[in-house]
Amino acid sequence: MNNSKIWLSSPHMGGNEQKYVKEAFDTNWVAPLGPNVSGFEHDLENFQNDDVFVAALSSGTAAIHLGLILLGVQAGDEVICQSFTFSASANPILYLGATPVFIDSEIDTWNMCPIALEQAIADRISKGKKPKAIIPVHLYGMPFKVDEIKAIALKYEIPILEDSAEALGSTYKGKKCGTFGDIGVLSFNGNKIITTSGGGALVTHSKKVKDKTVFLATQARDNAPHYQHSEIGYNYRLSNICAGIGRGQMEVLEKHINLRREMHDFYVDFFKDIEGVTVFQEPNADFYSNFWLSCIVIDSDKLGKTREELRLALEASNIESRPLWKPMHLQPIFSDYPFYGKKVSEQFFENGLCLPSGSNLNEDEKGRITNALSQFFK
Ligand SMILES: *Cc1c(COP(=O)(O)O)cnc(C)c1O
Repeated sequence: MNNSKIWLSSPHMGGNEQKYVKEAFDTNWVAPLGPNVSGFEHDLENFQNDDVFVAALSSGTAAIHLGLILLGVQAGDEVICQSFTFSASANPILYLGATPVFIDSEIDTWNMCPIALEQAIADRISKGKKPKAIIPVHLYGMPFKVDEIKAIALKYEIPILEDSAEALGSTYKGKKCGTFGDIGVLSFNGNKIITTSGGGALVTHSKKVKDKTVFLATQARDNAPHYQHSEIGYNYRLSNICAGIGRGQMEVLEKHINLRREMHDFYVDFFKDIEGVTVFQEPNADFYSNFWLSCIVIDSDKLGKTREELRLALEASNIESRPLWKPMHLQPIFSDYPFYGKKVSEQFFENGLCLPSGSNLNEDEKGRITNALSQFFK
């Protein structure tokens, strides 16, 4: 049996990516614009449905940065952000000189706790500052409690920047993640459910906002024969080469979601008789996850073994696994900013592990994973 590395989530090409890339070369559209960029945007708009407009950008982080600018966030403002996430959700707040206010998770979805969110908003307002935006995250593909979070945002009239970087194809009450916020964000980084080798997108319900996004992402050139600028511009547009990869990936997205969900079923089945291990699952039928990553939480008292022991055991079999995201309020770079909640996310971080979840894992590799897990839990 071959013992090559089993990755957590590696790129999985569908087959037609190189056709679109070759077309770009053949027609000399080797630039951050061209038919693949508009074609990829069109594919994403069709997939997301719900009358959205999509602007393809160089990364999900760029989409969050521009999203905050479009929502009017400026230096000195406060922006609410889910603490249990990847740092890219929060870094753009600092790019703008604004202050992040972190919110803990709730146990059902692992995402932003609506109760802690409302407490935070009330407290920030009582301290004299109303937050400018809310960044909830569909972590690992699991939708956050959209109705509850939206009701609070509406009540206090604060816009939502929906970080759907991990949740392309996930749905809440039948609607696609990435379409719920005032602005939505997608990512096509190398380890995401589809990849353009690096890329992202901003999702909006307004053609005007899309046009403004493209304007800001292409150095904010005013309409003049010479180069004229009256706003700060950015170089954030997606390349036509990368967009070609994206068009190929869109052809297999639905298939890859099903394969990720099958990987999740594989772990549910494996762990069903193992006491002390909980597989992260959808709380009810309103939630449909793309299961970008399959995750477990270990009760080390019950099990007599820790998350870290499991991680090392898998590593010894050349199988990659990774602790859940370390919450932002525990990160050295963010530790001085306000945090609201009961440290639910800290428990997840201490006891949780992401397991290999790729849509490209074959039967041989699944067998190796089963063997390594069986060894550890026997
Ligand atoms: C990947 C990711 C991002 C950033 O996307 P990039 O395309 O890597 O810049 C933002 N938020 C979350 C939750 C992510 O997982």
